[in-house]
Amino acid sequence: MKKNKILVVGNWKMNPENVSSALTIFKDIKKETKALKNTQVVICPPYVYLSDLEKVNSGLASSAVILGAQDMFWEKSGSYTGEISGGMLSGEGYVILGHSERRELGETDEVVAKKVSSASKVGLKTILCIGEKERDLHGDYLHFLRGQIINSLGKLPKRFLTKIIIAYEPLWAIGKGEEEAMKPGDIYETSIFIKKVLTEIYDQKVAITVPIIYGGSVNHNNAREMIISGQIQGLLVGRESLNARKFGELLKNVD
Ligand code: PEP
Repeated sequence: MKKNKILVVGNWKMNPENVSSALTIFKDIKKETKALKNTQVVICPPYVYLSDLEKVNSGLASSAVILGAQDMFWEKSGSYTGEISGGMLSGEGYVILGHSERRELGETDEVVAKKVSSASKVGLKTILCIGEKERDLHGDYLHFLRGQIINSLGKLPKRFLTKIIIAYEPLWAIGKGEEEAMKPGDIYETSIFIKKVLTEIYDQKVAITVPIIYGGSVNHNNAREMIISGQIQGLLVGRESLNARKFGELLKNVD
């Protein structure tokens, strides 16, 4: 049986400040990915850098890197100033949707659900971000997560689940120091909970096929243990994906 690769997604957010720096980091990351055997790397830069990076990507052989976007709009075209459709991105394989930083700007589960549906229809793979702001002792965060999963998927037909990756990113663990990242045992527990919710909405057969990845202060020191003990299928990496040397280290450790 063919083993699925570990998925490592680099979210560059609104970085770096210019395209020449983006090209430098990307070329350096490409060098770091040459020897990878078990890892699929996805880099999500700002939209405006995508075509320049794509040229580099297709120009350099033996690519282990796929490009992705950080967001998209649900309509195909029209009077939506500043927005970009899934169709406009369809050269790119992946799109991050519902990142907590977008949710902080007002994006609701309902908006995320429209985007997920539209991305799935144009064939993009969605990295659907979910995560609680804080953990409480009574387990209220589990109710919150459950609601977020159900409402962000909306009424997405089961056949599209092959295009969904759930990125679990507890907000309290994002952008912090290594010691504040989630413990692998807790990642494991939460990933089981996510599968349980997916089983509730769809069924167990399909739920177990949906990759769960973790994000929140992942770096080259803690990445491997998160994958092994957390028993997840990949990682969503913010800051460390902008440092080609450290990101390369992380990839080797995971691979
Ligand atoms: C993120 O914001 O998605 C993220 C995981 O950031 P960091 O790795 O910097 O915590």
